[in-house]
Amino acid sequence: MDADVWNELAVLREFGFTHLDLGGRPVAQSPGFPAEAEQTTTGQPGDRETAQPLDLLRTETHNCTQCRLAGTRTNVVFGVGNPNSDLMFIGEAPGRDEDLQGEPFVGRAGQLLTDILKAMKLTREEVYIANVIKCRPPENRNPEPDELDACRPFLRRQVELIRPKVIVTLGRFALQSLLEKSYAITSVRGQWLEYNGVKVMPTYHPAYLLRNPAAKKDVWTDMKTVMAELGL
Ligand code: URA
Repeated sequence: MDADVWNELAVLREFGFTHLDLGGRPVAQSPGFPAEAEQTTTGQPGDRETAQPLDLLRTETHNCTQCRLAGTRTNVVFGVGNPNSDLMFIGEAPGRDEDLQGEPFVGRAGQLLTDILKAMKLTREEVYIANVIKCRPPENRNPEPDELDACRPFLRRQVELIRPKVIVTLGRFALQSLLEKSYAITSVRGQWLEYNGVKVMPTYHPAYLLRNPAAKKDVWTDMKTVMAELGL
């Protein structure tokens, strides 16, 4: 068997697939994702020139004391990846590992997100990853409504600057906080929603998948819908 095919099957197996659906077309590498996140603004016409305002926004979040989480955080976890990406993933809030490292999705759930990206033939550097809450809630408790309200303007500005074509919301809090509507994730998962002209694909949170591996197939279905939309 071809080594690439073998690797792809290994990734899919790691991501929880036990059978092959050969109905779809092969996944192609996207021409739409520049390889290097940091070097996307060249000063050419058409550049989105997001790096500077995004850095300013990052600094603003680092200085933020608008909610109680400022008092317990180790690091503000702003976001990571390619600020010019067409694809943005939004999670809930940093956990312990993320708080310590200042980077979203670096713990167990993050490893699974990285595997999902691998299955999509993408890397963390090719997409943009952020959370609705930038500071860790103590003991990983759910974010409080006032914390979500305090952080929402940062997320919205981040989305405005990155201007992705597709946002994947991971779990209930990401979906509800971005769209400010109390959707039930089980009823809207896999269906396109919209935020300010950007297509939004709600799917399950990787932490939920760690507890319910059977739901991985639903997330994979959702990711295939995203890939088809972006021509990946
Ligand atoms: N869960 C999230 O929602 N975000 C992270 O950054 C890590 C775990």
